[in-house]
Amino acid sequence: MRAPYLNSRLQGFTGTIFAEMSALAEATGSINLGQGYPDVDGPDLIKRAAIDAIEKGHNQYPPGNGIAALRTAIASHQRRFYGLELDPTTEVLVTAGATEAIAACLLALCEPGDEVVMFEPFYDAYAACTAMAGASRRVVPLRAPDWSFDPAALEEAITPRTRLILLNTPHNPTGKVFTRDELELIADVCRRRDVIAITDEVYEHLVFESVHVPLATLPAMAERTITISSAAKTFSFTGWKIGWVCSTPELVAAVRAAKQFLTYVNGAPFQHAIAAGLDACDDDIATATSILREKRDFLAAGLDAAGFEVLDSQGTFFLTTDISPLTDEDPYEFCRSLPGRCGLVAIPSTVFYDDVTRGAHHVRWMFSKGHEVLDEAVGRLARLRAVT
Ligand code: PMP
Ligand code: GLN
Repeated sequence: MRAPYLNSRLQGFTGTIFAEMSALAEATGSINLGQGYPDVDGPDLIKRAAIDAIEKGHNQYPPGNGIAALRTAIASHQRRFYGLELDPTTEVLVTAGATEAIAACLLALCEPGDEVVMFEPFYDAYAACTAMAGASRRVVPLRAPDWSFDPAALEEAITPRTRLILLNTPHNPTGKVFTRDELELIADVCRRRDVIAITDEVYEHLVFESVHVPLATLPAMAERTITISSAAKTFSFTGWKIGWVCSTPELVAAVRAAKQFLTYVNGAPFQHAIAAGLDACDDDIATATSILREKRDFLAAGLDAAGFEVLDSQGTFFLTTDISPLTDEDPYEFCRSLPGRCGLVAIPSTVFYDDVTRGAHHVRWMFSKGHEVLDEAVGRLARLRAVT
């Protein structure tokens, strides 16, 4: 159905599944394992730094590329964790969350008619922002259960119109962490076919098994990669919307040109707080990840006991289940009925696909919740078999 007034580029993007399912959780009093936000806040040091920053008067427009302390902290984070050298003045840009970074990259770099290659399943903003930029998407399927891809499919997806490859590792919704070999393959395609890569690494620290490798660390990739990340997942402050972009001065300048007319700037006191967090909280990040690993295992066991097939998740805060051992319902219908069946909310993975038959039996569950909440959720899952 056409949405009145909405332009043709945004037809089909009228509402996000995350908002829909959070509203369903609210309306039904269900436990929300749908939309990706933790219910436990990040480090106190960071909260205090935000309060301090407000009290010290950091409440007006910050500089257009972000405060110097945060840009410096981001550059030193990239050096400390990955050995990447960045000039904080020209190679780092602070954005209103990773979401604005994605939008600004696509709006800045794409001409109408360009193509953007992305792996499917893909995060919803990739499709919407590609459409807003007047570009079109070509998808390379990740194949369950291991979420591998066919290198020939990637090669075929590249055409003379390809402007960008948009990569997300660790990957929402699957929890896949792209291996170095896979990244080498993608890098090889970028270099040979002269394509720029955008990598969304917002879950860079939420890695349980594998190792996160930034694409920019591969040979000759720093000069053709835009790396996006955010404080949202690393520090569990999703509502603060502090994200960033790292790349060459020329690419950062292009992204900044679009960014300055989207939000201009955002979150002055929160920029100060995240700068303090990046400088002081490496241990908190490591502790949070090991707690999250336990939560993943706990929810995976509960889902397994409830009769789902649980797919491996090496990172992020999402688990994917195949629901077909329990039901042959469509995942969307299944998720709509979950509150009534057992007081839970989850996300139908079909929303992350162009070809919904490829996600036909998958449902995504979010496990960054307090221990009592997960306990209760697993208890409710146990009720599911009885009513299915
Ligand atoms: N990219 C991915 C893959 C995400 O899952 C999310 C959402 N949480 C974002 C980007 C957006 O991040 P932010 O909240 O920093 O805008
Ligand atoms: N990225 C989060 C998710 O995948 C949600 C953020 C949003 O609602 N846009 O659930």
